[in-house]
Amino acid sequence: MDFNFSDEQNMLRDTVRKFAEKEIPPEVARDIDENDRFPHELLGKLCDLGFMGINIAEEYGGMGGNVVDEMIFFEELAKKLPVLAWAAGNIMLYGNAIIGKNGSEEQKKKYLPRLVNGELKFAFALTEPNAGSDASNIRTRAVFKDGHWVINGSKMFITGAGVSDIIVTNTRTAESRTRGITSFLVDAKSPGYSAKPIKMLGHKGSNTCEVYYDDVRVLPEDILGGEECVNRGWYQMMKLLNQERLVLSSCALGIGQAAFDYALNYAKEREQFGQPIGRFQAITHRLVEMATELEAARRLAYYAAWREINGLECVKETSMAKYYCAETAKKIALNGVQILGGYGYAMEYEAQRFLRDVLILSIGGGTTEIQKNIIGKQLGL
Ligand SMILES: Cc1cc2nc3c(=O)[nH]c(=O)nc-3n(C[C@H](O)[C@H](O)[C@H](O)COP(=O)(O)OP(=O)(O)OC[C@H]3O[C@@H](n4cnc5c(N)ncnc54)[C@H](O)[C@@H]3O)c2cc1C
Repeated sequence: MDFNFSDEQNMLRDTVRKFAEKEIPPEVARDIDENDRFPHELLGKLCDLGFMGINIAEEYGGMGGNVVDEMIFFEELAKKLPVLAWAAGNIMLYGNAIIGKNGSEEQKKKYLPRLVNGELKFAFALTEPNAGSDASNIRTRAVFKDGHWVINGSKMFITGAGVSDIIVTNTRTAESRTRGITSFLVDAKSPGYSAKPIKMLGHKGSNTCEVYYDDVRVLPEDILGGEECVNRGWYQMMKLLNQERLVLSSCALGIGQAAFDYALNYAKEREQFGQPIGRFQAITHRLVEMATELEAARRLAYYAAWREINGLECVKETSMAKYYCAETAKKIALNGVQILGGYGYAMEYEAQRFLRDVLILSIGGGTTEIQKNIIGKQLGL
């Protein structure tokens, strides 16, 4: 068994880590959090350094990396600023990967090079006010009329919808649940498109929006995959699920690691009753459990990724990774607040931000309950 990253992967991790340490000191992360500001400049710097090309094939100007490379990148970024990982994830999953896996040749040529160099940002619009976990029940409708598809409806909680150029919009085009969904590449400048930011508990700066489509007209060539992909949207999305779960697992690992490191340092320095609080067995054990569970979560996630890159069946493993990494990181962030006592509850300390930021990971990309339903099915239940 080989648990090592390749030399290139170690180099990638060091480069991202150095970038994050230099560019995202705590005061920068705090400024973005407090002002609920989309991290345009930091995202621009990541693009300038070529990171957006990690998962794009070399023929379109990318690095041709695999999902482990993506996870290394996201884990390091999420340690410092999860919302930046989230913003980069929107480009890399819902731009690069969606087009790479489903786009027509013209769409790949049109979009991928511009995604690599940071010219374009993508957002992914599936969730609706009445269709969250029950995603195949979406009602935003696209109807073909006079040479155009006309989209009407609304979407909910769409990350980056107010700052992106292309909104991958999933619509109802036939009554069948999964065989009646078509995905369109909607230009955010189209008349009738609008996005309104929603104030969220964490991931401040994510520009999570309510989105409205009011007679938005789209050309047939802007169907993801081209005209022959009408009603194929659900199956196009399915191709992305393992990768999405793994990327979100690595974001959870990054936040969990940051919350753990923060609490460990604090426990070594804070003294009560004449000794560092980390020497009290209750705190030692808490930190030991946090370290052990984080290590177990990381092994689970990278094992699932190993299956994915080796072409092995991995729906069960990626769902386990998503559920376990998110829940473990949540537990660690909560324990971190407790270890800091009153300071854990103070906005001046970062412990509270780790907790607020981690909570989305057991909701977005399929909730923990939905992951458990999937695992249950895989177990024959
Ligand atoms: C910050 C943020 C960013 C997001 N970004 C995006 C985005 O970019 N694009 C996008 O399309 N969506 C996005 N979402 C939406 C996200 O994917 C949904 O919130 C999620 O799928 C859950 O849907 P819901 O909120 O409607 O909850 P519901 O589906 O109403 O679920 C409510 C509760 O019921 C549980 N539940 C529901 N069904 C079952 C079941 N069958 N078995 C057991 N329990 C069940 C859920 O687990 C949950 O605990 C985002 C959400 C947030 C909060």
